[in-house]
Amino acid sequence: MISLERAQQIVRDGVSVKTPVVVPIRDALGCVLAHDVVAREAIPPFANSSMDGYALRAKDTGVAPSRLRVIGEIAAGATPTRTVGAGEAMRIMTGAPMPDGADAVIMVEDSTAEGDEVVLSSVAAVGQSVRNVGDDVAIGDTVLIAGTVLRPAHLGVLASLGELHVEVFPRITVGVISSGDELVEDGSPLKPGQIREANKELLLALVERANAIPVDLGLVRDNEEELVSAFLDAIGRCDALVTSGGVSMGDYDLVKVTLNRLGEMQWMQIAIQPAKPFAFGQLQHGERAVPVFGLPGNPVSSMVSFELIARPAILKMMGHQDLDRALVPAIADAPLRRRPGDGKVNWQRVVALRGEDGRVHVKSTGAQGSHQLANSAGANAFARLDDGPGVESGDEVLVVLLD
Ligand code: AMP
Ligand code: MG
Repeated sequence: MISLERAQQIVRDGVSVKTPVVVPIRDALGCVLAHDVVAREAIPPFANSSMDGYALRAKDTGVAPSRLRVIGEIAAGATPTRTVGAGEAMRIMTGAPMPDGADAVIMVEDSTAEGDEVVLSSVAAVGQSVRNVGDDVAIGDTVLIAGTVLRPAHLGVLASLGELHVEVFPRITVGVISSGDELVEDGSPLKPGQIREANKELLLALVERANAIPVDLGLVRDNEEELVSAFLDAIGRCDALVTSGGVSMGDYDLVKVTLNRLGEMQWMQIAIQPAKPFAFGQLQHGERAVPVFGLPGNPVSSMVSFELIARPAILKMMGHQDLDRALVPAIADAPLRRRPGDGKVNWQRVVALRGEDGRVHVKSTGAQGSHQLANSAGANAFARLDDGPGVESGDEVLVVLLD
């Protein structure tokens, strides 16, 4: 058996980062920026009012109340045509450009309009309620650095700078194949020995959650020829492939046979529970080589190995630098027991909640069998239990938070 860290290293060393592409910012959410963004415009581009009120000269409001002559009005989007002189004010709206001569704004709540004059009940300081040119971004500022994972607010910043296209590492397409003669996916009544397909649906969703593009490559029988044609299809259409099932020691584990035929594979036994077997390699056809992640068939195992091993490699292909989720200390609100002595690290499915003490608290989701997906489905975290008896109620335990 090899350690999880070793397996993760092998898999991420075996994938490469895609070439960056230019995309509309509308398509860039969650993508990794491929270059620094340097501001070609300032934000704000001109000095403007942060309040609805009156633009004036601060020194004209020296003693409250002061009375000024209103010489006009400026709305957002308008251009002031007059200069504010001594004893004068201009009605101004939020976001409207400051007129020449004015150096402060008094908010409308502190004013009373009287004919063509205004009485101001407060005293203004120079610069009050004025947003200066470039006080958020100056021309030449590096606003976003290469490697940034674009969040909604970043897209807003890019739009506000007029950068409507951006160079990012592309989302990759990840094909998902399920295999097994026992599987049914069309909702038809189960015949003896059949079970319903679960992994493909689960894995397509996990691929999507990783911000990659899932491709349903179907359910394939335990038949070598069918598997070959499914894999060739995958090589032609996808940047990476995830399979589940057929990689252990069974007589019909033909995924293994077929992957060995078409690719350069490594078969790993990883010192974790669940998800001990894992396969990784490159499927080759002509010029193309596509990385393949061979996950175990038990649904919980396939979920855990996707999250811990395949996902970080997929993120790497999409230009991410931060690949693994942090291990966070949490309090076990009930015992998390495990069988000691197998030399494996357990990744138990838990529900993590914020406790009244502000810390992360976890509880098991229930039965932990690797076929018992329903019992694991509510997990939003995996608790790491090193070889030993587990942890008692109130003990600290390290967890990875899944969302
Ligand atoms: P295998 O690795 O193919 O021997 O599969 C291990 C276990 O996982 C078996 O009990 C399979 O029936 C089950 N299994 C494999 N693939 C799936 C799937 N796509 N959905 C649900 N269960 C599966
Ligand atoms: Mg099988």
